[in-house]
Amino acid sequence: MTAAWWMLVALAVPVALLWAADPYQKQRDQMVREQMEARGVRSRQVLGVMRAVPRHLFVPPDLAPQAYRDHPLPIGHGQTISQPYIVAFMTELLELTPSHRVLEIGTGSGYQAAVLALLAEQVYSIEIVAPLGEQAAKLLRSLGHANVEVRIGNGYAGWPEKAPFDRIIVTAAPPEIPKALVEQLRNGGRLVAPVGEGPYGQDLVVLEKSASGRISQKKVLPVAFVPMVNR
Ligand code: SAH
Repeated sequence: MTAAWWMLVALAVPVALLWAADPYQKQRDQMVREQMEARGVRSRQVLGVMRAVPRHLFVPPDLAPQAYRDHPLPIGHGQTISQPYIVAFMTELLELTPSHRVLEIGTGSGYQAAVLALLAEQVYSIEIVAPLGEQAAKLLRSLGHANVEVRIGNGYAGWPEKAPFDRIIVTAAPPEIPKALVEQLRNGGRLVAPVGEGPYGQDLVVLEKSASGRISQKKVLPVAFVPMVNR
């Protein structure tokens, strides 16, 4: 065989091994191209992470074949894992750097937490439905995300012991942004949350706290999240 042939074999073998190791890699690449890049998600880091995190492991096993489709999926207890595009879009809005400490409200399946874990230093995630939070924590551990801490509790109070946070992401919809979360955001920090309680969904809001502590916010997209419950 010629040298060119050997080069081709040398390239093809690792690629084939990668595909065999994860039969969903092709679907993930397609999801990133068609649902994220095509709609304007630009961050190389975010797109890279969306290509890497095995979303099919975060949904009930019988729904794994649908994991990379363009919609949310039920994860039990009346809750859902968000549409892949929304996860990518919200993550891009956070503008994470590797030194960030991030608070997430609504652990759910743990998928968003896994995405954050690959882009930030430390992730704290609060889930109010105990079995969901426990299952997510177990899965995140088994995937090696040692920088995620999950706590069962009510996200309206935030996580004062771990504050302040560089970034906060809320993945259930409160009627308005909880005060405690704004207080626990560091100066120069940024919070992304779906806000509102109308029957037709909510607005995705980006709140910024300036270096001097001044708050500003803007609405960026209409969205439909499960309500953030207060009990
Ligand atoms: N980020 C999740 C999707 C979350 S769905 C994922 O990647 O899969 C919203 C989650 O918020 C649900 O699991 C719901 O139980 C949780 N939730 C609702 N109200 C909450 C509250 N007050 N505090 C913490 N979690 C809450």
